[in-house]
Formats: sequence, structure tokens, C-alpha cells
Amino acid sequence: MKKIVVLGSSGSIGIQALDVISKLKKDMAVVGLSVHSNIPLLKSQIKQFKPKAVSVNSPDEAKNLKEWLASNKLKTTVFYGKEGLEQLVSMKEADTVLAAIVGAACLAPLIKAIESGKTIALANKEVLIMAGYLITSLAKKHSVSILPVDSEHSAIFQCCIGENKSKIKKIILTASGGPFHKPNIDFSKITLKDALAHPTWKMGKKITIDSATLMNKGLEAIEACVLFDVDIDKIEIVIHPQSIIHSMVEYVDGSIIAQMSKPDMRIPIQYALTYPDRIVSNLSGFDLAKFAKLEFYKPQFNKFPCLKLALKAARSGGTFPAVMNAANETAVKAFLDEKISFVSIAKIISKTMSAHKNTAGKDVETIINADDWARKYADNLIRINGRTK
Ligand code: MG
Repeated sequence: MKKIVVLGSSGSIGIQALDVISKLKKDMAVVGLSVHSNIPLLKSQIKQFKPKAVSVNSPDEAKNLKEWLASNKLKTTVFYGKEGLEQLVSMKEADTVLAAIVGAACLAPLIKAIESGKTIALANKEVLIMAGYLITSLAKKHSVSILPVDSEHSAIFQCCIGENKSKIKKIILTASGGPFHKPNIDFSKITLKDALAHPTWKMGKKITIDSATLMNKGLEAIEACVLFDVDIDKIEIVIHPQSIIHSMVEYVDGSIIAQMSKPDMRIPIQYALTYPDRIVSNLSGFDLAKFAKLEFYKPQFNKFPCLKLALKAARSGGTFPAVMNAANETAVKAFLDEKISFVSIAKIISKTMSAHKNTAGKDVETIINADDWARKYADNLIRINGRTK
């Protein structure tokens, strides 16, 4: 029986993870949940899963929740704030932490979970961009496994099982291409609604915008370097609009191994939670004939500057990936708030990266400082420039 803490249980991945767990009751149980602000959903999740503890954002929310729990005769412990997340992931009752908080906020609880020896199912990619090698070396030190939840990385992970990693020639990272892969798109006229209409995947807002700019694939390239310990030049990005092949690994003998499934995040979530086992699920039923046409294209770097910027940050190393990531989070938030245009996202990131003096990024503090600096710098650019025409 696996005992799981779900960080970010009201987000897209968190909700789908709870759906997976609810169908595998014999094999796993929820012992902890955390949300940032969706208390109504947390209440219904508490009623369904009866976790040992939960964590919310503020002391006021914690107080209100405790009153609600008492009036419903529920015995869940309530933590709050950054410390609350750390208390939640280090509970002795938990053995696995599904880290599905979006963005840099996931870093501190993730480090605590690793230090507490929990198995990590990692859905957050930003922390690996910021502090990837610090996280993987910490995991090694504590003999902790980090199992990827991101569909591409779950695919690569599966394509590497039983193989010698030194025989990898390259990793072929597939991308749906997002809604703007089509020809004749006027990028200056893209609206928020256009950018949120992803053709194949149903995801949270931040990642949906990252998919539309192709930043997501740049972030995933760095994520793959960290998780599989390969050089950025061994990662090839291929646009595959059907989202059926989730990534491939080419070996030195010319064989390419691919992992395929319907584009449904519950498949990689379940694999990360049941690994090394595979468990029967109701997600099967994959009719290849319905997907007779699988296409592959090279990405158009000139149309998607965010992808170029991410790869540049990967090659530069040090604090550059953290700065690029922080500027992207800030710019995407401003685009979601309709403060800047779609094309301004890349401009904000590029300007922030140009102003940054790269350093080695040897410890978490250096990285957090670089992240902080980049957020303020990008925020300032957004404030000064307003909506870039
Ligand atoms: Mg992905």
C-alpha cells in the first residue's frame, strides 16, 4: 500500500492524480493534500479521501478549515504556509510525495520531501530548471527516486528501462506544437483565448501558454538533461501534432524506442505512482487505426523565440535557467492577466536574460536570489512598457 501526499491537489495534475488514486484503492491511499486557494475543492477532497493532514496558504484559512472539520467530525490535521507544506511532506505516515505545485513555490517542499526520504513523483518542471542538479544530487545522497510525471519524461524513462544510458545517441522530445503550429498565423494578433485553446492536451493555464509559445518544450529539454543526465546537444525536439508518441530514445545501434498512448495525463501519473509495477486501468483501449497518421516536423525556431531562449539558457547553465524560468513565469502571468501581448512574453524573457550576470548557481540560496532578481526585473519591464504593441 503506497501512502501518498499530493501537493497542489486542486490543480489539473492534482485532480487527475486523485482520480487515478481513487480507482486504485487497494494499492494506494491519500495521507496528505495541499492547495493554494481552492478551499471548496479541498473540502470535498477531504470528505472523499479522509487524509491524515492538509496544508493551506494562510493562518486564517487554516482556522476556518479547522472549524469546518470539527463541525463535520473529521479528524484531519491542518497546517499552513511554507512551513505547513514542509510538515506535510515530512509526515511519517507518507512514503510518496506527488509534487504538483506549479512554479518555483514547489522548491522548498520538494527539498524537504527528499531530505525526509520520500519517493518523489515529480510533476513540477520549473524546480528542475532552476535547481536541477542540486535536486538530483540531493536525491542521490538520500537514496530517493525521482519518478517523472511529465508525459514526455515518463516516456523517456520507460524507453530507458533495462538499457545502458551510455548507449543513448539522442533523446527525441516530441511536442504537439500547440495551437500556433499551423501556417499563416499572425502572432501579433494572438489573444488569450486563442492561446488557451490547446489542440490535444487538457492542462492548467500556465503550461497551456507555455505550450503555445513552445517555452514548455524548452523547459522540458532542460528537464530531460537533468533527469537523464545527458547534454543539451543530445536532445532533439520534434513537432508531432497528434501527441501519440510521447517521446523517443535513439540508441547507438540505430534503434529508436518510443512510448505511445492516448494523450491523457492519468497514464504517466499512474505509472509514476505504481512504478515499478504496471496496474490494470480503465484508461486502456488504444485504437491505432484511429491514429493512422502520425506526423513529425522540425520546430520553427524563428516563430517561437521562447524555445530558442530556453535552449540558450540551457547551454549557458549556472543561474541562467533559473532567470529564464522566473522571467517566463512573470511574463506568462502578465499575459494571463491581459497586461501584455503574446509576443511580449519572449521580449520580457530576452531582456531579463540580457541584463543578468550569470553565476555558477552552486547552492539553493544563489538560485533563489537569481530567481527573485529576475521576477523583479521582469515585473518592472511589464510595468514600464505596459502592453507592447
Ligand atoms: Mg510535457
